[in-house]
Amino acid sequence: MGQRVALWPLQACGECYPCTVGRPNTCDAFELIGIHVDGGLQERLSVPEDQVYPIRVDDAALAALAEPVSIAVRAVNRARVQRGEQVVVLGAGPIGQCICLVARERGARVLVIDLQESRLELSASMGAETLVWSGLDEVVAYCRRWASGGGPPAAFDATGAPAAVRAMVDMVASAGRAVQVGMSGEEVTLRLGSLTEKELDLLGVSCCNASEFGQAVAVVERNVELLAPLISHRFGLDQAPEALRFAMDNPTEVMKVVIGG
Ligand SMILES: [Zn+2]
Repeated sequence: MGQRVALWPLQACGECYPCTVGRPNTCDAFELIGIHVDGGLQERLSVPEDQVYPIRVDDAALAALAEPVSIAVRAVNRARVQRGEQVVVLGAGPIGQCICLVARERGARVLVIDLQESRLELSASMGAETLVWSGLDEVVAYCRRWASGGGPPAAFDATGAPAAVRAMVDMVASAGRAVQVGMSGEEVTLRLGSLTEKELDLLGVSCCNASEFGQAVAVVERNVELLAPLISHRFGLDQAPEALRFAMDNPTEVMKVVIGG
């Protein structure tokens, strides 16, 4: 048995504007393993050395969690989360849970919000406070009361749902940071005055850069027991088509489906 590794899936062009300013994670021509090039659903995969990160975990499925954790590391870095800050995370799916964990490790006080109460148990085990989504106005009012100083200084949307995005922008404190992580093709109506009057930083998050992937590997190594419940279902490689169908057909039941050998 060789060295267990996690894969930073990104290869950038090195020439476009984001690449030249040190942000290859937003390269216009990047290639991701598993999306633009064939990924892990095969017995052998050749990967450039600089995309391979040794990881010390016994379970290969946990090594695979370095990728969702890396998105959370990127999000928390973009948000410049500080020790002791009050941070709201909208959405307790895998990415929301990972943001919760990384923000907790940075010493933030975290409130996680989701429609499903059952999903909030894992956030609570990470030391977060939790709230079941009850509607836009109620959630914004609760969060502004919860955070001292006129609202949380940082909030993350990990849903891509228009109401949650609107809540994030409305609840954040003046001079705060609103961070969009959830992917969506939806259009959202925002009150523009929220941006100007509060002078918000509205920040988007894509993939992570190389050093952040290294940080994510370390987060996984330190938090195996907290992260293990994110893997809700496992399938063998020979069951891959069934696994993909299952994940798509059961979005509320599934956290992460892992396909292994
Ligand atoms: Zn590029």
